[in-house]
Amino acid sequence: MLSKFDYVKPQTLEEALDYLKSNPGTKVFAGGTDLMIVLRRNIELVNHILDIKGIAELNRIEYKPGEGLFIGAAVTVNEVCQSEIVREKYEALGQAADSVASYQLRNRATLVGNICNASPGADLSSPLLVYNAKVHIAGPEGERIVDIDKFFTGVKKTVVQKDEIVTGVSLPDVQEGDMSTYNKQARIKGHDLGIAGVSVRITSDKKVFIAMSAVAPTPIRLTKLEEALVTKDLTPETATWLSKEVANHINPISDVRSSAEYRLHISGILAKKGLLKLIEKGVN
Ligand SMILES: Cc1cc2nc3c(=O)[nH]c(=O)nc-3n(C[C@H](O)[C@H](O)[C@H](O)COP(=O)(O)OP(=O)(O)OC[C@H]3O[C@@H](n4cnc5c(N)ncnc54)[C@H](O)[C@@H]3O)c2cc1C
Repeated sequence: MLSKFDYVKPQTLEEALDYLKSNPGTKVFAGGTDLMIVLRRNIELVNHILDIKGIAELNRIEYKPGEGLFIGAAVTVNEVCQSEIVREKYEALGQAADSVASYQLRNRATLVGNICNASPGADLSSPLLVYNAKVHIAGPEGERIVDIDKFFTGVKKTVVQKDEIVTGVSLPDVQEGDMSTYNKQARIKGHDLGIAGVSVRITSDKKVFIAMSAVAPTPIRLTKLEEALVTKDLTPETATWLSKEVANHINPISDVRSSAEYRLHISGILAKKGLLKLIEKGVN
C-alpha cells in the first residue's frame, strides 16, 4: 500500500524551491519511474511529493552553436531519443537513451531523474561522463554548477541537497569529427538496467574518452586508461589490447544481474566493440 503524502505541482521554479524549503521530507518527482517503486514498497517515508513536470523552464532541450546542449529536468528520455542534435552530435547519449526500458517508460522517465536516482547501473550517466557534462542545481542560494564526475558520491547518492532541485544538464559543443557510441549488455532487451554499459568517445583531435556504468559504486570515467591510450594508434590491435586492459581499471560486484567475473569480462568486450565501431567510422 502507498504511504500517504501531499502532492503539489508548481508552475515555477521559485514556487518549487519555496515549497522544498518549507516542507521537510519532500521528494522531487519527475517521471516517477524510480520514485513510484520507492513509494509502493515504503522504502522511504515521504510526506510530500513535488512534481516538477509543470515547470515550463525545465521542459526545454536547447542547442546553441559554440556553447552546446542543455537538457532540462522535465525533458523525457523519449524526447532525448528524438532530438536531432543528440542523434547528430552526441550519439552515445542517443543510443543510451534508446536502451532505457520500454517506449512507455521512456515517455515518463527523464534523463535528469536517471542521474539523480544515482543507480550505479543507470544508462544515461556514462554518455554524460564522456562529454564532461555539467549538472545545474538550483537551491535557496541560487544556482550552482557541478561537473558530472563530481556529481555521484556513492550508490544512490549525489551532491544534491534536500532543499535543491537539479534544473538540467549541459554538454559542451563538439567539433566536427567528434564521435561516440554506447554499448550495453543486459539480461533482457528493455525493462532492465545493464549488467554493464560502456560509452566510448573520440574527439576530432583523436583523444579517447571511456566511461562505464555498473562496474563500480558510481558510474565512472576510466581516466588512467584514457591516458594510456594517448600513446597508442587507434587500430583494431589497440581495441584488442583495450578489451584486456579494462579489467585493471574497474571494480565490479556480483549481484542479481551478474557475477563480478562476467562484468570484468563483458566490460572489456563492450569497450573493444565501441572503439572498433568508431575506428571503422574512419578515425585514422
Ligand atoms: C520497469 C523499469 C525498467 C527500467 N529500466 C531501466 C533501464 O533500462 N535503464 C535505466 O537506466 N533505468 C531504468 N529504469 C529506471 C528509471 O526508469 C530511470 O532511472 C529513469 O530515467 C528515472 O527518471 P524519472 O524521471 O522517472 O525519475 P523519478 O523516479 O521521478 O526520480 C528518481 C529520483 O531522482 C530524484 N529526482 C528526480 N528529478 C530530480 C530533480 N530534478 N532534482 C532533484 N532530484 C530529482 C527523485 O526525488 C528520485 O529520488 C527502469 C525502471 C523501471 C520501473
